[in-house]
Amino acid sequence: MILTFVEHEAGVPEDTTLEALTFARDVADQTDSAIEAVVFGDEGPAVADEVGAYGVGAVHAVSHPDLDTYAPEAWGESVSQLVDELSPEAVIAPGSDRGHEVLAHTAAKRDLAMAANCLEVEAGDSYELTRQRWGGTLLEHARLSGETKLLSAAPNEISAEPADDGGEAAVQEFEPDLEESDLRVQISSIEESDEEGIPLGEARTVVSGGRGVGSPEGFDKLEELADLLDAAIGSSRAAVNEGWRSHDDQIGQTGTKISPKLYIPCGISGAVQHMVGCKGAENIMAINTDPEAAIIQKAEYAVIGDLHEVVPELNEAIREETGQ
Ligand SMILES: Cc1cc2nc3c(=O)[nH]c(=O)nc-3n(C[C@H](O)[C@H](O)[C@H](O)COP(=O)(O)OP(=O)(O)OC[C@H]3O[C@@H](n4cnc5c(N)ncnc54)[C@H](O)[C@@H]3O)c2cc1C
Repeated sequence: MILTFVEHEAGVPEDTTLEALTFARDVADQTDSAIEAVVFGDEGPAVADEVGAYGVGAVHAVSHPDLDTYAPEAWGESVSQLVDELSPEAVIAPGSDRGHEVLAHTAAKRDLAMAANCLEVEAGDSYELTRQRWGGTLLEHARLSGETKLLSAAPNEISAEPADDGGEAAVQEFEPDLEESDLRVQISSIEESDEEGIPLGEARTVVSGGRGVGSPEGFDKLEELADLLDAAIGSSRAAVNEGWRSHDDQIGQTGTKISPKLYIPCGISGAVQHMVGCKGAENIMAINTDPEAAIIQKAEYAVIGDLHEVVPELNEAIREETGQ
């Protein structure tokens, strides 16, 4: 049996979970296994209605009086106890923050091996894997062994497809035996970001600034450009580290991944950790004083010049052209 970890919002599985279920089905087909799922929260039955179509036969709905909110160690311990009880061939999670965190706790608690961000599996006694490294800039071939293999499916890489022979999933309650130490980390409150405007990850046009912008006020002209182009605003990590922008704006390996039609990085050198976040951009138009900057090599269009001169002129030209 393949056990999948389901992440959901009010009973509706996240897209990355549907991708992980599709990936799990491939492993299940190769190993002639059934697929079951583990779900936290009261919405087990609602989730079961959704995941049956993806080939899940049974949903283990974890209920515990202290597990109303996310608690990574306790969730990892609960999955570990299910592994003890069900002896699955593999546990497969979505390649999300929570998927990775819960799987990592499970791996540590049961001394199991885990492989993150997998794209393909050839399943045998051990699994031959292809997985993403460095935010997808490298592909690694790896071998995963162990009685129960722990894997996450690379996010936004696998197209989620319901099963041809999907059906209904049965719901089974599971109450884990937790100790106080499992509940050391729990969510106490959640604050919505007060950022307004178009979310970076979904924007069709993104204007961003790096160390070359020079100051928080330096972003004013970039924001004007973003307004004129109906674009989202982003930044490099250097601008975040300087305290000029919030981390919500950061694009890159440790920030948001973007895939706009047009990306306009201003005063950004194009370090590999930044490029990982914008490699999905269809076109890059870089503004930089240095013609040798790495981002210029990656850009379809480049303006070699001081952004404090180029951006205001660009704003003016767009205003003239569009009458805004
Ligand atoms: C583990 C790890 C994770 C990281 N994750 C990220 C990440 O998610 N995102 C990220 O961005 N970085 C990340 N970094 C940092 C990354 O390595 C770079 O240090 C960072 O991207 C550099 O930011 P920058 O391009 O703004 O600054 P710099 O590299 O200092 O480049 C500034 C650029 O501005 C140009 N410039 C200067 N003045 C002007 C001007 N007036 N007009 C026009 N151009 C000008 C310069 O020619 C230069 O090219 C990470 C690093 C590590 C180690």
